[in-house]
Amino acid sequence: MCGIVAYIGNKPAQPLLIEGLKRLEYRGYDSAGIAILDETTGSLDVCKSVGRVAALEDKLEEAPLTGSVGMGHTRWATHGSVTDINAHPHTDDTGTICIIHNGIIENYASLRTLLEEKGHTFTSETDTEVLANLIAELHDPDADMDLESAVQAALREVTGAYAIAVMSSHEPGVLVCARKGSPLIVGVGSGEYIVASDGSAIIAHTAQAITLDDYSVIRLTRDGFRTATIDNVALTPKVMQLELDLSQIELGAYEHFMRKEIFEQPKVLRTCMKGRLDRHEGKIVLGGLMSFAKELVKSKRVILGAQGTALHAAMIGEYLLEDLAKIPAECEYASEFRYRNPIIEEGTVFVSVSQSGETIDTLSALHEAKDRGALTLGVVNVVGSTISRETDAGVYLRVGPEIGVASTKAFIGQVCVLTMVSLFMARRRLMSPEASARIIAELETVPDLMEQVLEQDEHIKEVTAKHIDRENWLFLGRGYNYPTALEGALKLKEISYIHAEGMPAAEMKHGPIALIDEGMPVVFIANKGPQYDKVLSNISEVKSRGGHVIAVATEGDTEIRSLADDVLEVPEVSDMLSPMLTVVPLQLMAYHAAVLRGHDVDKPRNLAKSVTVE
Ligand code: GLU
Repeated sequence: MCGIVAYIGNKPAQPLLIEGLKRLEYRGYDSAGIAILDETTGSLDVCKSVGRVAALEDKLEEAPLTGSVGMGHTRWATHGSVTDINAHPHTDDTGTICIIHNGIIENYASLRTLLEEKGHTFTSETDTEVLANLIAELHDPDADMDLESAVQAALREVTGAYAIAVMSSHEPGVLVCARKGSPLIVGVGSGEYIVASDGSAIIAHTAQAITLDDYSVIRLTRDGFRTATIDNVALTPKVMQLELDLSQIELGAYEHFMRKEIFEQPKVLRTCMKGRLDRHEGKIVLGGLMSFAKELVKSKRVILGAQGTALHAAMIGEYLLEDLAKIPAECEYASEFRYRNPIIEEGTVFVSVSQSGETIDTLSALHEAKDRGALTLGVVNVVGSTISRETDAGVYLRVGPEIGVASTKAFIGQVCVLTMVSLFMARRRLMSPEASARIIAELETVPDLMEQVLEQDEHIKEVTAKHIDRENWLFLGRGYNYPTALEGALKLKEISYIHAEGMPAAEMKHGPIALIDEGMPVVFIANKGPQYDKVLSNISEVKSRGGHVIAVATEGDTEIRSLADDVLEVPEVSDMLSPMLTVVPLQLMAYHAAVLRGHDVDKPRNLAKSVTVE
């Protein structure tokens, strides 16, 4: 959600900022802008535009900005419509302070009234412009209130979430950045710094980055930096290596990142499992959990908190934990958990599942669970992300950067990690080495089986094409494949804008069956699992009402062919491992539906990659 990039160094800032913004485009945005401070003339110039970064580039071609201190932003509007004026960067009413901001200033209305009383005027509808004026109000270089102190003082007045970069024409060679609740890292080059929402905008320049905790402020000059809290308590910086390479964040031969990432799934699944499965001992080796292994073994209850696709993976995790480790488990929308006064008893483990590790709802739920005494685990992809740093222990997905806004390979990674975590606990609690070894051996075959599913890409496209004009779809599944049905529906909604509902197959009869009319596409996940016969009955019910059934079924199943209109086959595997295969045709279906409808798969309408506002 929203992208921030800022630069201080000796190179021309404009091309660097534009390149950074392009790398951040995947996060989702509606407008873009840059500002550069020309230290030779002292002028602070801003250029912004609604739409893509390419539209901003067109504007800049006519009037390029010069200087080597600057900032760029892709906005995902929260306060005020999508207009050039509301786009960032914002300046205060004197044009001295310039700011980019990701997040929400929750008390912006009262601050705005206060500032208006002091004579400030506003041109945009944003909360961000209020912060620019607040900093300007406090900034007084002659009275010991330099930019850094003014930013600290302003942030002490603010409630909400922010990642910001600020510069002042009174202090030309200085860039001040801060964060609370929204991601921000600082790439360290030689004599230069690149600040960004994530490593993808930094990695072309340096692999060394400083991570910032909530409420911290960093002051950057070409000669060095200093970090402190908003109360000006000095902090020791935390430096990390970015584990990214450029090929991972570039398209290569693929047309879209989503397609690239779907086809990468067998490979990343192997990486996710590498070194973590010990088939001979029937053991799972998860270094990130070892220091809490005892607590995990003795735990009495697991709560999984997540949103979106990660929630669907977490739901599968809930089933796995109960089935394998025999621990009562429940999965919740993190956003609901956080606000409903949850009861955390002794022995409760809270698992935060998030691709980015920055999802604000999931992070807030984690804070709530932690405050109430839960042991916290993170199942996240982005190394060094906030959730990974704030949990007691955790397991990384290791699926590489996910650029596609519609999550695919991260889902596979999350399900795989939750399978391994369940086995890790199961084997230490009650499962025999033999039983565990059997599951591990089967888990190891999943990447190869997944490759067989991907080979059906053309067939999946043909089946999707048949229904491309239909506006309402249903996705139904049972047991382990109920979350898969939810995920299939979500994928279709996200990128093709077709209305789709996912639900447990049995639930259909309790109301939604009224929707079924002649030719309505109904996708059943009908693999040969324990509830297969029940699913067949549900298929008959849909057929009797004229629905068009697309079944994701086990290879070689002839019975289903007499019932379903179209069959997408997946190789046979245990029910508990099946979602990693059954989800793949659904991902491809959503992909083809979006392409057939002419949508930009990697920049879906209204969506942002990592949701950092509540
Ligand atoms: N709240 C700010 C706005 O609406 C920032 C939104 C963002 O994170 O892009 O302009």
